[in-house]
Amino acid sequence: MTASISVSLLGWYDAHARDLPWRLPPGSARPDDPAWPYRVWLSEVMLQQTTVAAVKPYFAKFTETWPTVEALAAASEDDVMAAWAGLGYYSRARNLVKCARQVAERGGFPTTEAGLRALPGLGDYAAAAIAAIAFGQRAVVVDANVERVVARLFAIDEPLPKARKAIRAATDAITPETRAGDFAQGLMDLGAHICTSRAPRCLLCPLSDACEGRKQGEPERLPVKPAKKVVPERRGTAFWITRDGGRKVWLVTRPASGMLGGMRALPDDGWTARADGSGETPLAGEWRSLGAVRHGFTHASLTLRVVALETSTDPVGDGAWWPADRMEEAGLATLFAKAAQLALAAR
Ligand code: SF4
Repeated sequence: MTASISVSLLGWYDAHARDLPWRLPPGSARPDDPAWPYRVWLSEVMLQQTTVAAVKPYFAKFTETWPTVEALAAASEDDVMAAWAGLGYYSRARNLVKCARQVAERGGFPTTEAGLRALPGLGDYAAAAIAAIAFGQRAVVVDANVERVVARLFAIDEPLPKARKAIRAATDAITPETRAGDFAQGLMDLGAHICTSRAPRCLLCPLSDACEGRKQGEPERLPVKPAKKVVPERRGTAFWITRDGGRKVWLVTRPASGMLGGMRALPDDGWTARADGSGETPLAGEWRSLGAVRHGFTHASLTLRVVALETSTDPVGDGAWWPADRMEEAGLATLFAKAAQLALAAR
C-alpha cells in the first residue's frame, strides 16, 4: 500500500503542482547551477512560519538584489535586515546572512541532510527539504501540511507534539527512493489545497482510497492539537521623537540579541511600561499621546502606546535622525512600522 500511496501522490503532483518561483516543474532534472540550491534554501528559510503569498515578493526582491549565495554573503547585515523587514521572525534573517557566509566560505552548500542540518538556522525540516528538493536525496520531509495529511492518512490520533514520532515514521514508510523532493512538495501541496485544516476535500483527494482518517469519519479532527496555551499580554510605550517640525524622527537599532534584534526601531521602554503609562521617557518634556497599536507575537500579545515629543535635543544613546517622509525605507519591523503609521497619520 505504501508504494501505491507514493505513485498516486506523484501522479497527482505531476498534474496539479503549484507553479512557484522557487520550483521546477514536476519531474524536471535538477539544473547543474549553484543558483539552484541557493533559491531552494532561500525559499525554505522564508517559508518557515510564513505563507507562500507573503514570501513571493520577498523572494523576488532577494533574488534580484542578491542572485547568488556569494552576493548575499557579501551583503551588509543591515541591508539584509532592512530587506527582510515585514516578513517577521527576524532571527531567520540574521541566520540567513551567517549561513550564506559559511556556505560561500566552504564553496557551496553541503549536499547531505546532515551537512545542511549543521548550517545556521536550518532545522530538521529545512535540512530534509533542501536535501530532497535541491539535491535529490531521499529525505523524510515533515512540515505542518505533511503532518496533517499523514496523521489523517494513517488515523494517528495521539495528540501533538507526541504524535510527531509516529507521523515521521509513517512519512518515512511512504517516501519513495526516487523523486523524494517532488513527493515532499506533492504532500505539501495536497495539505495546502485538498487536505486543508478545517474542510478536507476528500472527494478530490488522490489518497482517498488509502485514507484511514476518511474511512473512520471526521478526518478534520486530526491531528489532535495540544490544549491551547494562554498567551500573556504585554504593554509597552514607543517614543516618536521629532525635530524640525516633525520632518526628522529619532530611530535606534535594537540590540543584536533579543526580540527583533538588530532591527531599526523607534525607541521604546523595553515593554515594561506600567499599566497607567507613567513609565520613564527618554527626554523630559510635554509628551503627547497618539494612541496605541496591537501586535501578536507567538509568545505574547503586545499593546504598544505611542507618545510623541518635538525637540531640538538629541536623545541620549545610539540613534539617528531619519526623514519622516522616507519612513517606509527605514526597514522597521512590523510592530514599529504600525507605530510609525499611527504617528504619521496623527500629524
Ligand atoms: S482522503 Fe481526505 S482526509 Fe484523507 S488525506 Fe485525502 S483529503 Fe485528507
